[in-house]
Amino acid sequence: MRTNTATVVRAEGVHKSFGRTEVLKGIDLSVSAGEVMCLVGPSGSGKSTFLRCINRLERIDAGRLYVRDQLIGYEERDGRVHELDDAAVARQRRGIGMVFQRFNLFPHMTALQNVMEAPVQVRKESRAEAEERARSLLARVGLADRAHSYPSQLSGGQQQRVAIARALAMRPELMLFDEPTSALDPELVGEVLDVMRGLADDGMTMIVVTHEMGFAREVGDSLVFMDGGVVVESGTPADVLGSPRHGRTRSFLGKVR
Ligand code: ADP
Ligand code: MG
Repeated sequence: MRTNTATVVRAEGVHKSFGRTEVLKGIDLSVSAGEVMCLVGPSGSGKSTFLRCINRLERIDAGRLYVRDQLIGYEERDGRVHELDDAAVARQRRGIGMVFQRFNLFPHMTALQNVMEAPVQVRKESRAEAEERARSLLARVGLADRAHSYPSQLSGGQQQRVAIARALAMRPELMLFDEPTSALDPELVGEVLDVMRGLADDGMTMIVVTHEMGFAREVGDSLVFMDGGVVVESGTPADVLGSPRHGRTRSFLGKVR
């Protein structure tokens, strides 16, 4: 944990079902400002669903989910909890950047246009201001010279770096990464992890779903192992990876290492 200890994410008893399938069975965790939390676990354990609940792509059924001191999707007023309207939810979501396994860039826009789009359309920044910042973000992810390339002209690793720059353009206070390197050819994984490491060094608060245990060990401040919709164990990456306490953790780690 780095110097600032304010809490950015707090989950209390978060439950989520799809139909009769309970996917999240009471998740409790918290992430401090500047913390990099790596979230690992087998496929189907609910990792993506949990990230999607944090930025309200999914609605939770029970429990509470706070980002900073704001209840996601709700507001507390007159001692009661009221559901927010879509516009208010959209405002909350702007502070949360998300990067997916698939890069989801707009194919008909250049790298620069992809990064500028939301600041101009959503934040109502001037084009000049948005372009200047987009160029500096592309430089930050090592793509200053590819500003005018279209996604189809970029490698998967380059596209994912544009996707990271695009998320950063909204000036998020929290970044969520859902297996950002899983769709990449092995030789392209390192360049994306390097960008994420740089973000971590700059103090960004991040939750990273990943199978990259080297990254978790080197960059993660904390590691949470999820299985079957519950947090099985958590701690420092060195502790959880070095001496897992639960059989389920040991068995999973044996497969990914
Ligand atoms: P993980 O990211 O850990 O692999 P997910 O959160 O994607 O796990 O999925 C957890 C479980 O929830 C899986 O069984 C999946 O099939 C189910 N699930 C996820 N999204 C939906 C949905 N929109 N509708 C129905 N079931 C879903
Ligand atoms: Mg997933």
